[in-house]
Amino acid sequence: MLIGAHVSPAGGLPKAVERGVDRGCEAIQIFNQSPRMWRTTPYADEDTAAFKAALAQSAVKAVLIHGSYLLNCASEDRDIRTKSLASLVGSLRAGAAIGAAGVVLHPGSSKGGAAPAAIKRAGATIKAALADSDRCPLHLENTAGAGTTLGRSIDELAALIEAAGADKRLGVCLDSCHLFASGYDIRTRAGMDGLVARVVSKLGAERLGSLHLNDSMTPLGSNRDRHADLGEGELGEAGLASFLGAPALQGLPCVLETPGPDRKGANSSEVALAKRLHKRGVKAYK
Ligand SMILES: [Zn+2]
Ligand SMILES: [Zn+2]
Repeated sequence: MLIGAHVSPAGGLPKAVERGVDRGCEAIQIFNQSPRMWRTTPYADEDTAAFKAALAQSAVKAVLIHGSYLLNCASEDRDIRTKSLASLVGSLRAGAAIGAAGVVLHPGSSKGGAAPAAIKRAGATIKAALADSDRCPLHLENTAGAGTTLGRSIDELAALIEAAGADKRLGVCLDSCHLFASGYDIRTRAGMDGLVARVVSKLGAERLGSLHLNDSMTPLGSNRDRHADLGEGELGEAGLASFLGAPALQGLPCVLETPGPDRKGANSSEVALAKRLHKRGVKAYK
């Protein structure tokens, strides 16, 4: 497993690598644009070259791009879907330019409409984005199930992938906080075994693309998306170790998106804690 954190690329793309190295990351996640804006600016060739050079000299082995929070590929509003498509294509092209392991996308929300119709719309938008980009994988992230968000279960992720044409570039990003909040008890061996069995039967193990590691401020099945620092939430250190130890998840990039001590994200001691919990989890499985 490649453990790391979400970092800022402020000051230029190579700065993201520097911040990752400072935190002891083996994987990093960045936004390719402001997460609260529609506008995407393609990377200049010199920026991607500088980024790749910095990366090659570092211990960072995988990079993820997180799509903008504004996207709703499932929106009933055609204008929102068009903007979402353009933004997603921008992220996928940026991902291809920097050799990202994947773009992570929140699949969208039905906003109260029927879920099957919303899944169909999301699938069509995602399919169009894949057709207008190449190489970079797209990881649909499971959600906490707040409101009418799509992707609250492995079955729903499978339906979204199916609706998007089941392209080989499609995978999933599993977020520990979201899994727990949507009702998967990942704190236990039985809970993890059940989850992995569902993933294998519904998606296929090859669709496992990346992981987000967050503790959860809210209880099992609360359907609320509130990240906590590792060990400070309802999952706790033992619960997180159980998640990290599952054999099916080994080898994946795994990034922290925790608030952090200064609310600036995970620091080096939290990344180190994640690595220790991973070792503990793997050992428990042996
Ligand atoms: Zn996440
Ligand atoms: Zn979240």
